[in-house]
Amino acid sequence: MVVDPILLLMAAGLGLCVGSFLNVCIVRLPRDRSLLRPPSACPRCKHPIAWRDNIPIVSWLVLKGRCRHCREPISAQYPIIEAAVGLIWVGALARYGVTIQALAAALFGTILLGIAVTDARHYLIPDEYTWGGLVLGLGLSLTGGVSGFVQAVLGAGAGFALLFAVAQIGQWTFKEEAMGGGDIKMMAMVGSFVGWKGVLLTVFLGALLGSLIFVPLSLRKKRLVPFGVFLALGAALTFVFGETIIAWYLHFLRGN
Ligand SMILES: [Zn+2]
Repeated sequence: MVVDPILLLMAAGLGLCVGSFLNVCIVRLPRDRSLLRPPSACPRCKHPIAWRDNIPIVSWLVLKGRCRHCREPISAQYPIIEAAVGLIWVGALARYGVTIQALAAALFGTILLGIAVTDARHYLIPDEYTWGGLVLGLGLSLTGGVSGFVQAVLGAGAGFALLFAVAQIGQWTFKEEAMGGGDIKMMAMVGSFVGWKGVLLTVFLGALLGSLIFVPLSLRKKRLVPFGVFLALGAALTFVFGETIIAWYLHFLRGN
């Protein structure tokens, strides 16, 4: 897909700003703090961060990763998340062109990144990502007409039901909570973007990646690596490559 370079630059700029907002979400949502107030300030000297020190990536580089006033180090997480979201938005536009699918890809990728980082750090998936993402997924599906909306609702229902069943079985088997409610809500959100077949592929890929990475890492670190991280990876792969993988699988089943 050939896209005007100016549009790609605009997508990059927009993605960087969305990434800057995602940083605020990553820091504040797990602590139940407002996303709007108070404005960002240095955690040590409490100096409010001026707009010129809040330009994605650039400000962090100019300030060499330190607060302008007290020289307190500023986490490299900020520019890394900004760059990652910038790349997601450029990638979505480059792959899908100026379409609703590109917007869906960009928003879905951003939400999944937020979920993965938050779940890895805090072992929780805030409702803002899951319920908020579900509303976005269902809303965007309306642009595909009734059938698009029906697919999204079926996907959300399948995601919810499948993870709910897995959580119940886990509870009976291990007598403890194997999977949090966050994972269940997350898969409802994922289903609204990728449909019910996509839900199955996401859980399959998540479990596959999980057992390849999750189990050895959990044993080594002696602590659980949250499953939401792998579901997020599986969901992103499904969004981009799902149709190809499912078509290949069906072809394989027919034995030719
Ligand atoms: Zn400071």
